Amino acid sequence: MLWTCRVLYSPAGPSVRGWQPLRFDGGAFHLKGTGELMRALLVLRLCAWPPLVTHGLALQAWSRRLLGSRLSGALLRASVYGQFVAGETGEEVKDCVQQLQRLGLRPLLAVPTEEEPDSAVKTGEAWYEGNLKAMLRCVDLSRGLAETPGPAGPILMQLKITALTSTWLCKELTSRVRGPGASVELSPERLAEAMDSGKDLQVSCLNAEQNQHLWASLSRLHCVVQHARTQHVRLLMDAEYTSLNPALSLLVAALALRWNSPREGGPWVWNTYQAYLKDTHEQLRRDAEAADRAGLAFGVKLVRGAYLDKEREVARVQRTEDPTQPDYEATSQSYSRCLELMLTHVSRRGPLCHLMVASHNEESVRHATKRMWELGIPLDGPVCFGQLLGMCDHVSLALGQAGYAVYKSIPYGSLEEVIPYLIRRAQENRSVLQGARREQELLGRELRRRLLGGA
Ligand SMILES: Cc1cc2nc3c(=O)[nH]c(=O)nc-3n(C[C@H](O)[C@H](O)[C@H](O)COP(=O)(O)OP(=O)(O)OC[C@H]3O[C@@H](n4cnc5c(N)ncnc54)[C@H](O)[C@@H]3O)c2cc1C
Repeated sequence: MLWTCRVLYSPAGPSVRGWQPLRFDGGAFHLKGTGELMRALLVLRLCAWPPLVTHGLALQAWSRRLLGSRLSGALLRASVYGQFVAGETGEEVKDCVQQLQRLGLRPLLAVPTEEEPDSAVKTGEAWYEGNLKAMLRCVDLSRGLAETPGPAGPILMQLKITALTSTWLCKELTSRVRGPGASVELSPERLAEAMDSGKDLQVSCLNAEQNQHLWASLSRLHCVVQHARTQHVRLLMDAEYTSLNPALSLLVAALALRWNSPREGGPWVWNTYQAYLKDTHEQLRRDAEAADRAGLAFGVKLVRGAYLDKEREVARVQRTEDPTQPDYEATSQSYSRCLELMLTHVSRRGPLCHLMVASHNEESVRHATKRMWELGIPLDGPVCFGQLLGMCDHVSLALGQAGYAVYKSIPYGSLEEVIPYLIRRAQENRSVLQGARREQELLGRELRRRLLGGA
């Protein structure tokens, strides 16, 4: 049944008379201070310079050696860290989020932890337990932030499953799930049952160490979702490499069975779909239909995908088929098709189906708002938008001012924890940073207008 919610549109949004395209012309920059605009312009210009992104970690080490850690830290805080990170303490994060909320934007907190395959320190069980604690604190922080004045709405948080389970186990599970005669022991139902009962799980195709780590990982995942559920926080699980994604999706499917039933009022666990993969549209269609048939709520974060170069490199080295779309155009077409599929499901299933359009692309965002209007999906309902903190504020602000639900993905933590994480993210999002020229142009125009009094 199509919703007839057009009358619910806020007066600032598309009018009831017809859809009005959003203008991403930097008009909404008037909401930001001159200092913030100058920092954004400087940092985005620096990040568009490829050597800085490629050799970021080495440059950081050099600057610490030359300037000392205090001065080099102060420089980073005034620039890259200040632009892309909310802060270190709960209070700093709160201040940053309150500023966003005043601009009509919402927080999507992300703990910047991830496994580094070659680091021995970061692969022991204790490291994952530490990450679990950080995630539980992140859930509490996300919940606490929702109590500060600002746009109300579902509380969302972003989570990397490989912070709670190892990539070696995910690779093993992926090969079992994908392999011929995929192991029936590794069904979402069986994993969900193990999570719920807390009983030991033995999978015959895994060795003792793998079984033990799988069980510990399931307990951690269950613990974080259970806590998030009691705090009314919805968890958006990241998608990563194709060598891990089938395992990650299996774990998400097991969690969804337990936590996305309609009586829970979810979806509390969302998966991420990467449009740059050739098989994503088909996968999304199957998962959406399966959730519908099972009567489960369904939550999706739709992205283009961040690991293009690495996926292609692996395919080249292993002489396997490249899993990614042949070019940018094909990825964008795939994104539009996935978007259409999800918006149709949302319009049919209503609040049982949620979507985050996680993109900085003006065309995709504008297209989503147009289709939402045509399908009668309310502005601040089950469809929301997501962009990274410090990126494409001209898009986020225009959406927020028009009454759409917009979340900024916000990493937080100490300089030492966050800078390596940021550099890796910058390397993965190289094309976005290089493509932020339009944002730089708009920032420059607004600054000239303010400083020189131009039109
Ligand atoms: C809130 C949020 C959450 C995110 N979570 C995840 C996540 O869980 N997993 C993940 O992988 N990414 C994630 N991303 C990053 C995302 O996948 C993109 O890398 C990023 O947003 C750039 O895409 P775009 O639509 O914003 O911008 P655009 O500039 O329009 O698109 C750039 C993207 O197009 C694709 N592309 C570029 N060149 C080519 C080419 N030659 N051939 C094929 N495709 C090409 C790549 O995917 C590239 O990242 C997230 C982003 C946001 C904002």
